[in-house]
Amino acid sequence: MFLHKTPLVLKWIYPQLTWSKPTKEKVLYLTFDDGPIPDLTEFIIATLNSFNAKGTFFCVGDNIRKHKEIAERAIEAGHSLGNHTYNHMCGWKTELDTYINNVNSCQQELEDLGVKNTLMRPPYGQISRKQISELKDRFDITMWDVLSGDFSSKITPEVCLNKSIKATRNGSIVLFHDNIKAEKNMKYALPRYLEHFSKLGYAFKTL
Ligand SMILES: [Zn+2]
Repeated sequence: MFLHKTPLVLKWIYPQLTWSKPTKEKVLYLTFDDGPIPDLTEFIIATLNSFNAKGTFFCVGDNIRKHKEIAERAIEAGHSLGNHTYNHMCGWKTELDTYINNVNSCQQELEDLGVKNTLMRPPYGQISRKQISELKDRFDITMWDVLSGDFSSKITPEVCLNKSIKATRNGSIVLFHDNIKAEKNMKYALPRYLEHFSKLGYAFKTL
């Protein structure tokens, strides 16, 4: 299983990574990993737009190549794109050079879209110290402090929503997935999460 709230100890072990943006203001940072893909990314963009919310999409480079027009739609709507490697690589299982090259290939796709990107999120949240030190000058390596768990078939959409709401603080970075595996939970939780925090006066911004 997984924790909806990132344990503090991880933030102490990896202080060079961004886990949240603590603030007194009512601001939240929604992030969506693994797209862009047809239908689901479009659903997310439409949902965000209907709440006047902005979000950040950590894109898989190969998905940008396949679905460029969807990535462009996200940019046009004022959302941000970040780097999630070209092939959704697991840092802990990948040699340094291969990993960095894969990040660079994704970055090239983003550049081709005209995005001047400095955001990177390691797939599975797994990245080695060597990979961090190689990337940290070029990228803000961005993790999360609220894991919606939308990808898990073991939780119901209601649990996904309620635990995400409970784990949220001002300045939280919240992780949803732009991925078929997460579709059922995400499609239920995202609009209700936005509604809940909009009513409380929160703004949703890009990273
Ligand atoms: Zn991912």
